[in-house]
Amino acid sequence: MWRVIGQESVVSLLNRSLEKKTLSHAFLISGPNHIGKMTLAVDIAQAINCERDAPPCNECESCLKIQQGKHADVQVISLISENEEEEGKTRTEISIDDIRQIQHTVSLPPFEGKHKAFIIEGAESMSIEAANCLLKTLEEPVTQAVFILLTTNASLIPETVISRCQKISLNPIAVAEIEKTLITVYDIEMQKASVLSRLSHGCFGWALSAAQDDKILENFIEKRNRALEIIAAGLQERFNYAATLSTQFSKDRAAVYDIMDIWLNIWRDILLLKTGLTESVNNIDIEEWLRQWSAGIDIAGIRNSIQAILEAKEQLNLNANSRLVLEVMMLDIPVMTGNIVKR
Ligand SMILES: [Zn+2]
Repeated sequence: MWRVIGQESVVSLLNRSLEKKTLSHAFLISGPNHIGKMTLAVDIAQAINCERDAPPCNECESCLKIQQGKHADVQVISLISENEEEEGKTRTEISIDDIRQIQHTVSLPPFEGKHKAFIIEGAESMSIEAANCLLKTLEEPVTQAVFILLTTNASLIPETVISRCQKISLNPIAVAEIEKTLITVYDIEMQKASVLSRLSHGCFGWALSAAQDDKILENFIEKRNRALEIIAAGLQERFNYAATLSTQFSKDRAAVYDIMDIWLNIWRDILLLKTGLTESVNNIDIEEWLRQWSAGIDIAGIRNSIQAILEAKEQLNLNANSRLVLEVMMLDIPVMTGNIVKR
């Protein structure tokens, strides 16, 4: 059973390739954070090593070991350091040494399974040298190894590497499907499932983690409250905030992109409320307040704000001066007035 949910076309494509034994030796799975990229990668690693007839079965010894991260032939390379002295620390790039290590391992036969699987999480963070080194490995496919690259931003990966991979793009899934799965499969209470599925922006992984760990929702609300404060704040406070975000961006890009997505979703909801499409609003817990804001601005103003955030994200991707980009974004978004009612 594939554990990734809401991605039927991807799953049926993979099932067909498995049946015909034409599975690619390299994949590039792209999509937003918490959409299910790692879940799908682990599913694929299970599928190629599963001991039963309908892989991945999720029950055989091999499937269970892979799911628990204990299979000798499945290796995850990520920005989280595995070095004991730096345990838990986040690095800023995947280096050529990481890829050389893979090259060494790939030349050896599988230790306990049928195939080796190398999952590279945050593949956009590979240094140029690392990407070139990986390219050489991908150019000489080894029959008993599969490479699975995961990324939130494929445009940062060299085209030469992308062209060697089968591309799988995971898109946000319907709120109703997330809600149903939380309730029926994970036994989450209806009210909680309803709010979390909407706040998840179509990313099941986020909704499930937040259902199981209250801190995730608290953290989200704290970040969203800060965004709401800044949207209502004057230029001086906004510029100070831009400076703080810029410093954070140099250490942890993903965290800043997360915050920008929160901004984007606030403005998306303001647009939906302005146009009367209230059923699709994500931030339902602060809907009344966002409705007041939507009454105080015209559609062109809302569209400009959304555009400003999207452009800022694009400029940051292109490695423009982050402080300048964020300051321009702050200038382009109108200051919204009215009482802030925090949750
Ligand atoms: Zn199995």
